[in-house]
Amino acid sequence: MEAIIYKSPFFSIEKGEQAAKALGVKYHIIDFTEDILEQIQNPAHGLGKAMNPCIDCHTYMIMRAGELMEKWGFDFIATGEVLAQRPMSQNKQSLGVVARCSKYEDLLVRPLSASLLPPTKPIREGWIDATKLPAFSGRNRTPQIALAKQFGIKDYPAPAGGCLLCEQQFGNKLKDLLDHEGPDADRTNIWLLKTGRHLRLAENIKIIVGSDEADNNLLEKKAHPSDLRITCPDVPSPTLIAPKEINEEQLQTAAAICARYAKTPAGEPARVQITTGTNSRIISVMPMHPDDVIQFMVVS
Ligand code: SF4
Repeated sequence: MEAIIYKSPFFSIEKGEQAAKALGVKYHIIDFTEDILEQIQNPAHGLGKAMNPCIDCHTYMIMRAGELMEKWGFDFIATGEVLAQRPMSQNKQSLGVVARCSKYEDLLVRPLSASLLPPTKPIREGWIDATKLPAFSGRNRTPQIALAKQFGIKDYPAPAGGCLLCEQQFGNKLKDLLDHEGPDADRTNIWLLKTGRHLRLAENIKIIVGSDEADNNLLEKKAHPSDLRITCPDVPSPTLIAPKEINEEQLQTAAAICARYAKTPAGEPARVQITTGTNSRIISVMPMHPDDVIQFMVVS
């Protein structure tokens, strides 16, 4: 048995890795970014409350797992899905749709709810002893916790969601990016959606302002080499990044926004440093009033 952990900008691999390590299972980290972006933009079964294409996402996770199963010579796929644990994506109908659309329906086992679902080949053929499989259903995790205890498993991740696609604000930022950059949206820009405040100055000009030191460091590290870095050098300041296509007027606006978030003295002009590669210059601007910043925010 080996585990597959999917990776994307929208959810962390941390819990999967933690669980696989605790169980001593060999695992593979598979980049799922292109698959999930395709499903977000063309969701055959629609989106959830935000930008989450859960049914198609599950389908593709199982389809990719099936392809790897064949490639690596395994016999079947098992998932941790539980019937009715999530009202939309794990009800009986959705589990059926996912199984059928994945193309690996008959080689898919959901062990935790297996006794409540139609038996697939691994069960029919006796590869798995069906009498040992539980019949978990619903949102109550107590039976799963009790089963873990029975197997002596104490160290398992908390059952929290954690997918950014289900969050409305993140969904709005992603939609804004895809609306402006299209399906080929720069992948670094997608990863950067998790970082800082996003403000759009024009159709093709979005700036990002770090919200804290961690954001600032990440922006410095991950931004494109051609991006402009903007800071207020005299006071504690966020890092602001802007694309190289920004014009002078927009640059003045970006500098005023940077000064608004820096600890600049009220009512005084602020010195703002603009760096492009090895070139740097200083301009002086009045910090923008917080009320005036709101119009630019992708998510306010
Ligand atoms: S919550 Fe996120 S990762 Fe999970 S199925 Fe939905 S879109 Fe995919």
